[in-house]
Amino acid sequence: MKRSESNPKISNKGRVIVISGPSGVGKSTICNIILKKRNDLWFSISTTSRVQRKGEQQNREYIFISKSSFLEQIKQNRFLEYAEVHGNLYGTPREPLEKVLEGGKNVLLDIDVQGAQKIMTLFSAGIFIFLIPPKFGDLKERLQKRNTDNTDEISKRLIQAQKEMEYMKDYKYIIQNIKIADTVRSILEILKNELDRNAEL
Ligand code: 5GP
Repeated sequence: MKRSESNPKISNKGRVIVISGPSGVGKSTICNIILKKRNDLWFSISTTSRVQRKGEQQNREYIFISKSSFLEQIKQNRFLEYAEVHGNLYGTPREPLEKVLEGGKNVLLDIDVQGAQKIMTLFSAGIFIFLIPPKFGDLKERLQKRNTDNTDEISKRLIQAQKEMEYMKDYKYIIQNIKIADTVRSILEILKNELDRNAEL
């Protein structure tokens, strides 16, 4: 059985694909389209302590739990990685992801730059993609239009976005998300080269 080079306990029959980028850049929309186009991908649903937004469903966008339960799960080593983002806790549940990789499926993660750094140390063969907005001003507009966060929350997310851009250099692929359709096409091309070509070798 093949094991992850950097962590012998984790199977690397499947590959991990990480998508990061500032809040409002369009990660969730893009991940949802990619998931419909490739049935070899499984989306890792994160656990979070942030409040559920209107339109979100338990166990669909996230597993929503209280901060105290989150802290308990950290103690129990239930996360492969976790981080505090915009004042809330987010983590990748360890067990389902490991099972899926063991079964040979590839895993798609929409996580922040801190989480991605951890995944980079665990999965050297991971595919790391960073999405950037066409213009920084666009982020503010998108966050306002999305209408899910108040003004305070939007300011926090914009400050955080500036910081996140500093991590961009650690990603193998950087895509400027000008048009969703073009970004999706670029990601599908990356996946074709990285996953399908390797499978043929
Ligand atoms: P939002 O609250 O807008 O859904 O997500 C905020 C940020 O948390 C996004 O940048 C998203 O990529 C990140 N995030 C979501 N799940 C996880 C996770 O499991 N781990 C980490 N490190 N970040 C996450």
